[in-house]
Amino acid sequence: MSSVPFTRTAEAPRAYAKVSLQVQSSKDLPEEEPINLNIPDNYVQWVLKNQKERPPITWQTLWGELNYLSLSILTIPPAMAIWGICNVNLHWETAMWGVIYYFVTGLGITAGYHRLWAHRSYNASKPLQYALAMAGAGAVEGSIKWWSRGHRAHHRYTDTDLDPYDANKGFWWSHVGWMLVKPRRKPGVADVSDLSKSAVVKWQHRWYLYLILGMGFVFPTAVAGLGWGDWAGGFFYAATARLVFVHHSTFCVNSLAHWLGETPFDDKHTPRDHMITAFITNGEGYHNFHHQFPMDYRNAIKWYQYDPTKWFIWVCSVLGLASHLKMFPDNEVKKGQLTMQLKRLKETQDHLQFAPDHNDLPVISWDSFREQAQKRALVIIAGFIHDVSSLIDEHPGGRHLILKYVGKDATTAFFGGVYNHSNAAHNLLSMKRVGVLHGGVQHGLDDKNIPPAQRLRVARYSELLSSSGSASSTACSDVDEETLLG
Ligand SMILES: [Zn+2]
Ligand SMILES: [Zn+2]
Repeated sequence: MSSVPFTRTAEAPRAYAKVSLQVQSSKDLPEEEPINLNIPDNYVQWVLKNQKERPPITWQTLWGELNYLSLSILTIPPAMAIWGICNVNLHWETAMWGVIYYFVTGLGITAGYHRLWAHRSYNASKPLQYALAMAGAGAVEGSIKWWSRGHRAHHRYTDTDLDPYDANKGFWWSHVGWMLVKPRRKPGVADVSDLSKSAVVKWQHRWYLYLILGMGFVFPTAVAGLGWGDWAGGFFYAATARLVFVHHSTFCVNSLAHWLGETPFDDKHTPRDHMITAFITNGEGYHNFHHQFPMDYRNAIKWYQYDPTKWFIWVCSVLGLASHLKMFPDNEVKKGQLTMQLKRLKETQDHLQFAPDHNDLPVISWDSFREQAQKRALVIIAGFIHDVSSLIDEHPGGRHLILKYVGKDATTAFFGGVYNHSNAAHNLLSMKRVGVLHGGVQHGLDDKNIPPAQRLRVARYSELLSSSGSASSTACSDVDEETLLG
C-alpha cells in the first residue's frame, strides 16, 4: 500500500503564495510547517475544480489501473489461509494463540494507529508506543504515518471525493476497492507534521518492512512452533488467517461503520453506530459518535457497550503507561443526542394533526353562542366553543352527559367536576374546537386550554421567533367573524 505524497505547490493557488511567505517569516513557526497551514479558504472546492481525477476504469484500462502491491497483500494471504485450512490440522493451542494475536494486532491498529497516532486521543509512554507500533505492524496495514495521513483526510473530508475511502462510492469501494486500484485523486491535505517528529513513528517507518515480516509472520509462527511444536499451524492460522481477519476487521470501520446502524449524534454524514460493527472491529463500531468527537479516547460511551480498545487504553492509564485520556464534555455530547432526538420527534409531530390555532378561530359572543347552540351541539370548555355533535353517540359516559351541557359551559364538569377526563379525551375534544368565546379564555388556565399533546412542542428557532412576534395580535379579534361559525 503505497502512499501518495501531497505537494502543496501543486495544489495551492498562486494567489495565496504571498500570504504563505508572510507567515513563514513569523518567529512563532514550529520547526516543520504544517502542510495545511496556508491552504485557501475554498480549498475543497478549489481542488475538486482544478485537480483532475483519474479517468473512470474500464475493462480495457483495468490492468494498468490496479495497485499490484495492495492487490497482492489482499489476495495472497487469503489464498494461503484457505489452503492451510484445507491441508493443515488446527491444534487448540494454535487456535487460542491465533485469537489472542488477532486482538493484539487489532489493538495495535485501534488503540495505536487510530486513537493514539491518527487522533492523539491520549498520551502513551515510550514502552507502550513501541509495543503498539510493533503490534500495529503485525496487522500489515501500512506504516503509522501513511495510515494516519489517510485517516485524517477521511475525517476532514468525510463523504467527499477528497476522502480516500469515501463511503458514498459504495460499500465495497470503502471496504477494499480504494486500495485495489490507483487512487482516483489525491486524498485531501491533512497535516501529520506531529507524527514526523515522533521518534517511534520514524523508527517504525524506517524498519517497516522488517517489522511486518517479523510481527506479521515470524513471531506468530515462532510462538506456536517453539511453544507446542506447531510450526505449520502457527504460520497458516496464527499468522496468515489471523492477518486476513485483522485486515477485514479494520476495513469494516470504513465500510460497515458507514453503512449499518443509527445516527444518534448527527445525521449529516454517513458514519453510524452499531453493536455488530463494534464486535467486528474491537469497539470501533460507534462510528457516529467517533466522527462527532474524534479526539475522544472512547468510541462507546456507555459502560455496557463493547469497546475493548477503550478498556485497553483505560487499563494502560491505570498501569501508568498512558495518560491524558481525552473525553469530550458530557454536556456537549448530550446536546448532540438531544438535537437528533428532537429532530425525530419533530418528524413524528409533523405527521400529526392538532387542534386549530386559536388565532384562526372566530371569536363569538355569549349570546351568539347560545343562539347557535339551538341548531347544533355546541359546548364551551376552557373558553373554547366545541362542536361535539360527532361525540354524542360515542361518549363513554353516555349521551345524556353531553346533551346536558349543550349551550352551556362544561369546563368544571369536564375537568373533574363530573369526571376527570384523560389526556386522550382532552386531545380529542380540542379537535372539535370551532370558536373562541369572547372574553372567555381565562389566564392561568393553560393546563385546561392547551391540549396535553401540545404543551410541549418541537419548533424550529425561526418558528418560535415568528410566533412570539404575532402573540400580541391574538387579543384583538372581531365579533364580526361570528358568521364564520357555522
Ligand atoms: Zn469513518
Ligand atoms: Zn477516526
